Amino acid sequence: MRLHGVRDARIDDIAEPTIRPGTVKVRVALAGICGSDLSFFQEPYIPVDAVHPTMNEAGPKVLGHEFSGKVVEVADGVEGVAVGDLVAIRPSIADGTCAACLRGQPNLCENWGFIGLHGWGGGFSEFVVAPLDNVYRLPAGVTAEAGAMAEPLAVAWAAVRRSGATDGSVALVVGAGPVGLCLLLCLQAVGASRVVVSEISEGRRAMAERLGAEVIDPRQVDAVEHLRSVTYGSGADVSFDASGAGPVTFDAALDALRPGGTSVVVAMSHQDVPLDPNRFLNTEKHLTGSFAYLPEDFGAVIDALGDGRIDPLPLVTSTIALEDAVEKGIEHLLGDGRSTEVKVLVSPEPVA
Ligand SMILES: [Zn+2]
Repeated sequence: MRLHGVRDARIDDIAEPTIRPGTVKVRVALAGICGSDLSFFQEPYIPVDAVHPTMNEAGPKVLGHEFSGKVVEVADGVEGVAVGDLVAIRPSIADGTCAACLRGQPNLCENWGFIGLHGWGGGFSEFVVAPLDNVYRLPAGVTAEAGAMAEPLAVAWAAVRRSGATDGSVALVVGAGPVGLCLLLCLQAVGASRVVVSEISEGRRAMAERLGAEVIDPRQVDAVEHLRSVTYGSGADVSFDASGAGPVTFDAALDALRPGGTSVVVAMSHQDVPLDPNRFLNTEKHLTGSFAYLPEDFGAVIDALGDGRIDPLPLVTSTIALEDAVEKGIEHLLGDGRSTEVKVLVSPEPVA
């Protein structure tokens, strides 16, 4: 499935990618549809003929950056994975040479790219050839379905790391879409003692509750008062705006913090948010964003899937065939599916 322009994704017949030095060829098993695929589909911000500086390829690009698969070929001299291994792909690519990369922040690379967005194929196809560094062998017992969830979980894992949440932390997650629910699973994995999830949609609240969150409907219960009431008046250690609805969700996350707490922006904001610096002066609250993840975040998620600290399978609400990915996937998620689906996985193989 390649993106040709605004709301124009097509199932195309393309050449099978061939192995290059230092790479691994993977037959895709499952690939998740991400909110960013939906945004990009509606508003492709990269012209289709633009050549990406790191990936050195023009479009139309294959979409799909959350995927797992089976290794079918390994370049000469590549060690660590073997034909037949079930793997997850970390799609993030950095140039390795810019100031951000040299500082150890490849997620902030000046020329960052993603497999499945900027080039080198993508998960909404049958085969992908990826550098060995981007290929993670799944531990025994971890399914292709769970492997396809590693990428969105890595986004959440990095945000949790940036928040400083640890064993015993009290957390507020505003918004229980796929990112908010992944945050919940990661916060539980690091041992948060209490995760409050604030969400308007009843279906999403029910999902968060099933996963062990304490849920509130912000139209009924004030998140700030609620967090204070369960922390002897002080507030949450960490909070996350995973909704991006504007002041209503941003302020809830910031105001629910205890003094010295950290709020992490994880969602693209859909509205301007006025920000009064005095809110930080006498509270020493921290505010930061979190963008993608470091390679070690991806590895940490694979480990947590392996030892059972994270079970993402409840988040998978549908699996569809690649030929249906536009209509039953992207268009559906932009319509009715928004309130009923969490994660839709796409399979290049026929779906029963
Ligand atoms: Zn760089």
